[in-house]
Parts: sequence; structure tokens; C-alpha cells
Amino acid sequence: MTKPAETYSDRLLHFTLPFRDARGRAVRIDGVVDEILSAHDYPPAITHLLAEALVLATLLGSLLKHDAGQLTMQAQTEAGVVKLLVCDYRAGELRGYVDFDHERFGELGANPSLAALFGKGYLAITFDLPGENGRYQGIVPLEGETLAAACEAYFLQSEQLPTLIRVGARHDAKGCIAGGLLIQHLPDGEEGRERLHARLDHPEWEHVAILAGSTRHDELVDRELSLEALVWRLFHEEDEVRVEPGAHLVRGCRCSAEHYTDVIGRFPEDERAHMRDSDGMIRVDCAFCSKIFPILA
Ligand SMILES: [Zn+2]
Repeated sequence: MTKPAETYSDRLLHFTLPFRDARGRAVRIDGVVDEILSAHDYPPAITHLLAEALVLATLLGSLLKHDAGQLTMQAQTEAGVVKLLVCDYRAGELRGYVDFDHERFGELGANPSLAALFGKGYLAITFDLPGENGRYQGIVPLEGETLAAACEAYFLQSEQLPTLIRVGARHDAKGCIAGGLLIQHLPDGEEGRERLHARLDHPEWEHVAILAGSTRHDELVDRELSLEALVWRLFHEEDEVRVEPGAHLVRGCRCSAEHYTDVIGRFPEDERAHMRDSDGMIRVDCAFCSKIFPILA
């Protein structure tokens, strides 16, 4: 009997370069993305956008120290073709969806730019922390060419952390595969403290950013290349590279009949009357996983 081939997908890797005061994350997802996409019927450009957003949500969410913490990424516009893109990450659980105008999307052509998809949009990044730590949110305009560029801007502006992010996604016969790499500079060796200034010209950071910046798209989405091998390729000349496996990644939707019963219950009776089907039930479908909940309310 042959052993099943090792899979390098749906995995997250934490790494640090202790002598450079840098911490990083690498991620590759395919099964999870396919599962999330299977709940929807999205055209390729929207699929690609969501796959990239899920990689980013994983990279950012994995920076949370508490398993109970949640990272939510929300890209929104007033009058864009894409009205809303939402992804969230909690302890390895991922979900996401895109709400867009099908008719206007059809007029965009095969590879619309981020600006064509969102128009004048913004990206809100929210970290929900358990207990008294509460929630903090940063909002940046969607001005760059990629969602990854907007996330880099978020770290620089909101957290004063020089950050480099690379994300890739592609389709092959097996489905969608997406991957990403994040690395950031923590010059004081600590995590999470307030900083007043970010130094992009710090020699250590410049060095790390050049190495990390050489990551190629095909390496990020190579089913045969482990994340450890990717990190090793980039940083093998460093004095020390520490790696540690991150959370196991799965699709996790937290929708429940209880939640929707509660939400529907808050509508006034005359509005609920309009929502009811002929059998007296109100049917709500989860935007994330498309599951339909018949609610008696
Ligand atoms: Zn759901």
C-alpha cells in the first residue's frame, strides 16, 4: 500500500527571524477555498478576489494571540460594482462572500482592476479580542492595485508596523489554490505596543523586505512546495529562522437557526408578515454559506 501523498494545502506556518526582529506568516489554501466557493456561483474574477481576501484574512487573523479572537475584513463601496466583500477568521475557521452587481460586472471584461471592481472604496479591518481587550478597527482607502496593498497600508498607518504582503491565487484542474506571505518588522522585539513612528528605512527591515519581496507568484500557489520550503528558499542565509505550525484551516460558518430567529424576532410584526412564505415560515439564507434556515417567527 502506498502512503497518501503529503498535502501542503490548507496550512498556515508561523515564522520569525529573531536576529532581524521580524515575524512572518505563510499560508496556502485550496480545499477550504473550494468549499467556500462551492456555496456560490461566482465568475472567475470574483472567485479570484475572494480567494485573495481569504488568504489575507488568514494572514492577519493568525496574528491574533487568542483563539477566541476574530479578524474581519470588509471591503465596501458606495457605488462600486462590488458592493461588499466580507471575510473573517477565527481560530483557523474561515468564511467569506462577495455581494456584487451581476449586470454591471458583466460589462467589465475578463480581468477587471481593483478600482474597476470597487470604484471609490475602503477596507475596514477589525480585530475582535476576547474579554476586556474589546475591538479595534482600522479603515484605509482601497487605492492600491491589490487588497494586499491596502492591508500593508493599514499596518503602516494604524499600527506603525512596516509590513510586506504577497498574495497569489490561480485555478487549475483541481480547483482554486491561493497562498500568501506576510512579514513585518517589530523593531523593539515586542508585539502589540503603541509606536509613534514606523521606520521603513531601518536597515534590518530593508534587508528582510528585499528577501521577502522576491517571493514569486508561482511559489505561493505551488501545490508541490511546502510552506517550510518556501520560507527556507527566502531566508536560508539568515542566522536563524524559527518556524512553528499555525492553526489547522477549515471552513467555519457560525450561522444558526437560533441567531436568525433572534434577528427576525426584532422586526415589527407587519414586516415579518411580508417576509412569510405561504407555509407561514420566514426563510433566511446565510450570506456566507448559502444555507437556508426556515424560521417560525
Ligand atoms: Zn452560514
